Amino acid sequence: MPKPLGVVTRYKTHVPHFDVAFWETKDVGGARRAWLAGTIPMVSCFGDNRVAAAHPEWVQVGPDGERGARPTRYFDWDTLCPSRPEVMALALAWAEEALEVAGALRLDDVTFARRGYCACVLCQQGAASAGVPLVVWRQRVLTQFVAAVRARAGTRPLYVTLYPDPYPGHLENERGLDLEQLAPLVDAFVVPLYDLGYSTTYWLEVIASGFRDRLGSQPWWAELYALKVPPANLVKAARVAGTYADGLLLAYGSQLSELQAVETAVKDYFG
Ligand SMILES: [Zn+2]
Repeated sequence: MPKPLGVVTRYKTHVPHFDVAFWETKDVGGARRAWLAGTIPMVSCFGDNRVAAAHPEWVQVGPDGERGARPTRYFDWDTLCPSRPEVMALALAWAEEALEVAGALRLDDVTFARRGYCACVLCQQGAASAGVPLVVWRQRVLTQFVAAVRARAGTRPLYVTLYPDPYPGHLENERGLDLEQLAPLVDAFVVPLYDLGYSTTYWLEVIASGFRDRLGSQPWWAELYALKVPPANLVKAARVAGTYADGLLLAYGSQLSELQAVETAVKDYFG
C-alpha cells in the first residue's frame, strides 16, 4: 500500500520534492520563522526558552519542586505550564498566527514535561477546584487547548506530536494526553522516533507497533531523524516504522539527493 513520505525541513529547496513538508515557525528555543508557502507550519506550544527566561514563574514544576527547565536533569528545553492563563493565551496566539496563512497546522510540545509535572500552585488549585486528581486536570487542560485550536482550524488538517511512549497509561498519566479525547480533534498524530544512526531497529518496531495497537484506526505518522544518518540505515528504519505507521517523515536531512534516494527506496518497498 502506498505510504506518504514527507520531510521536516529548514531548506526551501526540499519542499516541492516530497508529499508533505513541515516547517517550524516557532521552535522550543523561542525563535520565530516566517511560514513558507506549500508547507505545514509547526508550532512548539509549551516549550519556549525565551518565554521561560522572561517569565521564570511560568515554568512547569515537579512534585518535589524541581523545575522543568534546562539547568535541571532530563530537560533539553524549558517547559511552560499550560494551566497558566498567560501561557495558554500565548500558545493559542501562536497557533492562530500560523492558521492565518496556512492550510494545515502541526502542534508540537503539547505536553506536560514528565511524570509528576506540573504540580505548580495553579495546577493544584485547578485540580482542587474541579474536584479531580492532578492527572485528570492536566488531561483536561491539554484537551481544551487542542479543542480550541481545532475550533480555529475548522476543517483544515491538524497534526499533533506525541511523546514516543506507547506504554498503556504513560501518555495519559505522565504527559497529560488523553488519546481517546484527543483522537476526534486530530487528523493525525506524529511520533518522533529519533536515533543518530539507526544501526539497530528492534526498538523502532517495539515502539511503532505499540502505537499502532494504541491508536487503532487513528492515523499516525512516524518521524525519523535524517541528518547524517547513513541512507541504507534510514531506508531500513523507514521500512520498519512504515509497516505500522500511516505515513513517514524524514527530519532535518540536509542532502536532498540522499533524501530523494531514501524516498524512492521506501516508496518502492511499500508499492
Ligand atoms: Zn502548573
